[in-house]
Amino acid sequence: MVGMTRADKVLVVLVLLIAIVGIGLNMSIVAAGGEQKAEIWVEGTLYKMVPLKEGYKQEFRIGGDSHYDIVEVQDTRIRVREADCPNQDCIKMGWIQHAPQQIVCLPYRIVIKVVSSAPTDTDTIVR
Ligand SMILES: [Zn+2]
Repeated sequence: MVGMTRADKVLVVLVLLIAIVGIGLNMSIVAAGGEQKAEIWVEGTLYKMVPLKEGYKQEFRIGGDSHYDIVEVQDTRIRVREADCPNQDCIKMGWIQHAPQQIVCLPYRIVIKVVSSAPTDTDTIVR
């Protein structure tokens, strides 16, 4: 770096450092804000938690041979794929993927909710 004084060099290094730290902070905030998971509640107790993220697939059954819900997780979405409850409302609700959306199967007291794992006051911290 010809022609630069010592002070200039220090300044350049400082600016670079601040930029790198800033990028790092931004990335961690974005990662935390973009992470969601689904909670599955059965009869008022937390039955299962699943991540909602790209490339993740899972399917599981809640209940027995009768009185069941089959829940499907695909990437960032979750739904009830099959159930033998009388009104089928839980299936009609389709895919959900944004907090605080939820699917309720009233007859079997099953609730599936999307929750964000980021702290609720992220906005305040950023500002
Ligand atoms: Zn149902």
